[in-house]
Formats: sequence, structure tokens, C-alpha cells
Amino acid sequence: MRGQRRRMGKGRRRPPKAFPGKYFENLKRVVMDRYCSNCSACVAACPVRGISITSYSSPPYFPGWEEDCTDCGFCVRVCPRWDYKPLSGIGLYFEIMAVKSKRFKGQDGGAVTEILASAMERGIIDSALVVRRDEKWKPEAFIATNVEEVIEASGTKYSHAFPLSALKAGGYEKIAIVGTPCVASAARKLQREVGKFSKKIAMVVSLFCMENFYYPKLVEFLEKKGVNLESVEKMDIKKGKFYAYPDISFPVKELDEIVPEGCKVCQDFTGVESDVSVGSVGSPDGYSTVIIRNESLLDLIKSADVEIEKANVKAVEKLAEFKVKMHSG
Ligand SMILES: Cc1cc2nc3c(=O)[nH]c(=O)nc-3n(C[C@H](O)[C@H](O)[C@H](O)COP(=O)(O)OP(=O)(O)OC[C@H]3O[C@@H](n4cnc5c(N)ncnc54)[C@H](O)[C@@H]3O)c2cc1C
Repeated sequence: MRGQRRRMGKGRRRPPKAFPGKYFENLKRVVMDRYCSNCSACVAACPVRGISITSYSSPPYFPGWEEDCTDCGFCVRVCPRWDYKPLSGIGLYFEIMAVKSKRFKGQDGGAVTEILASAMERGIIDSALVVRRDEKWKPEAFIATNVEEVIEASGTKYSHAFPLSALKAGGYEKIAIVGTPCVASAARKLQREVGKFSKKIAMVVSLFCMENFYYPKLVEFLEKKGVNLESVEKMDIKKGKFYAYPDISFPVKELDEIVPEGCKVCQDFTGVESDVSVGSVGSPDGYSTVIIRNESLLDLIKSADVEIEKANVKAVEKLAEFKVKMHSG
């Protein structure tokens, strides 16, 4: 027992199990088989490196878990969907503004790229967990260690990139995490539950999110519509429509059939647990809406090379309420 407590960290207790069996089996049956968010915090936290991304069309898995899982409980402790109580609303904040970077082009105003680059240039972070893509839009999470790599990752990829799994690569002391609201919540759990992450995660940036998709399903869907992915310059969801520029647009409702189960239970549109949330709704074209929840980021953003306008807070609140309505039944 003494040894067990030492392994779990001082004062840490193993969480109650839903049923007898190893923790991984608990996680699989309670979360992965039902409503996994695909944040992949469990991959980052698994001390035996058994949990991994085995496919882009399903949650992480632990091949051979029956023998190799040590039943430490970390996977359950960092999972944002274990003992799930959905978060919602636009959360607490210091300021909301519409931001456009004067230096970088991004999905909207390039605000995420600007925040990460400015924080890197000032030594607030030494790296950023971001997502780039290949020519067929397959997302790849990686740790950017310079501004060029941050720029390479700009733009939205509407598919699960299992970002937190990339934390396993190491090599950072002050990292910014960028991801959807489930990833922001998972990053907070990693900070709280896993000693090595508590100091190393220096900033959490959440992207507004209504839903995300498994890459193979999205590709299949778009190819059936005649889209040649290699010629797509940008994907976007705006005012109820999905755009794959320059080819096609269609009502986003058509994608309902491929929304993963894990997104159907989520009610958090903005990522209320983040340090800063960034999205499109609430700002004029070419700007990003930025919700600043950590006071230390106010100065960073205001002194960055940006144009700032007033954001439409009501529009953000309306969409946050809509997500709750959509996903509470
Ligand atoms: C799946 C998804 C759904 C979204 N839905 C909405 C929505 O309904 N309404 C809305 O207003 N905004 C939504 N957004 C946010 C919006 O698309 C922009 O990402 C946001 O406005 C930031 O724009 P920017 O120009 O400031 O970012 P940029 O400067 O272009 O930077 C974008 C950052 O996002 C990261 N990123 C891109 N794709 C992913 C991914 N799949 N997972 C993790 N990180 C990623 C990149 O690494 C990059 O650092 C969504 C984003 C995603 C990823």
C-alpha cells in the first residue's frame, strides 16, 4: 500500500471504478465505447505507453491491455469524460474582443498564430502543441518549437488530430496547448493529475467548437460529393454551411450522420476552462473573436501586432446556448 501511494503521488487516491476490472477496461467501457472526445489525454498520461492511437477512425486503444495495463488509474484520472458533467456557456473572462493579426494569415484573424508567436518571442512559452495537415487534409498534431512551425499549423482542420498524444514526445518546459474545448478540459486534468505536466503546460488555448469529425469519415463524405481534397484551399463552417473552397458548399446539417458520439454529448462551445478561447462567430470577416480568461494574456494580446475591434458577445452567447440545446437530449 505504501508503495502504491508513492507511485500515485503524495495525497493522490485512485478514483473509484465503475465496475471491477482494470482501469483501462473501465475507461474503455464507460468512455471509449460510448462518448470518447478523442482528446487523447489518456495516451499522454499512460506511464507504460500502452494506450496509443491505433486508428484515425476510433478512440485511442491499448492493445494487450489485459496483460500490460498496470492498473495505475492515470488514464481515468485525466479523462475529461470520466464522471462527466458537461460544461457550458461562455464562462468567466476579463475581456472579449475581435482580433486581427497584422503579421499572420489564419483561419479567421490569425489570432491563435499571433498569440502563440508573441508568447514564444517573449519567452512565455518555448513550444506549442499545434496541428498541421498534409495535402489530403490529414491532420497531424506536433510540437512546434519556433514561429515558422506555428505558422505552418495555422488554419482549421475539421477532424480529430488526437493532439495530446503528441505530448509524449517531450522536449518542452513551457508549452501552450491548442485544441477544441474537450482538449482544453483534458489539459487542465493533466495539469492537476500528472506531476510532470503541472508546470510544463504554460497556456491553454481553446478553439470554439460545435463538433469535430473522424478524418476518414469526413474524407469519404467529401469525396462522395465530388470534392478533390488536394485542390481544397480552406475548409470552413459559417452560418450553417460547410465550405470546402473553392469546390463546394452545403448545409452543415448534412454532416449530422458522421458526427462522432463523443461530440454529441459536449455542451462546451468556447472551452470555458482555457486561458483564452478563440473562434470565428462574433467577429467581422478576417477577425477572430478572442475571450481572454487569464489576466496575464491581456497585455500580451493588446501589445501584439494586431488590430482590435469590438466583438459581438451576444452572437457568441447565442451559439453557446444553441450547443447546449442541441446536445442536452
Ligand atoms: C473542429 C473545429 C470546429 C470549430 N467550430 C467552430 C464553430 O462552430 N464556430 C466558431 O466560431 N469557430 C469554430 N472553430 C474555430 C475556428 O475555426 C478557428 O480555429 C478560430 O477562429 C481561430 O482562428 P484563427 O485565425 O485565430 O486561428 P489560426 O491562427 O489559423 O490558428 C488555428 C490554430 O488551430 C489549430 N488547429 C487547427 N485544427 C485543429 C484541430 N482539429 N485540433 C486542434 N487544433 C487545431 C492549429 O494548430 C492552429 O494553431 C472550430 C475549430 C475547430 C478545430
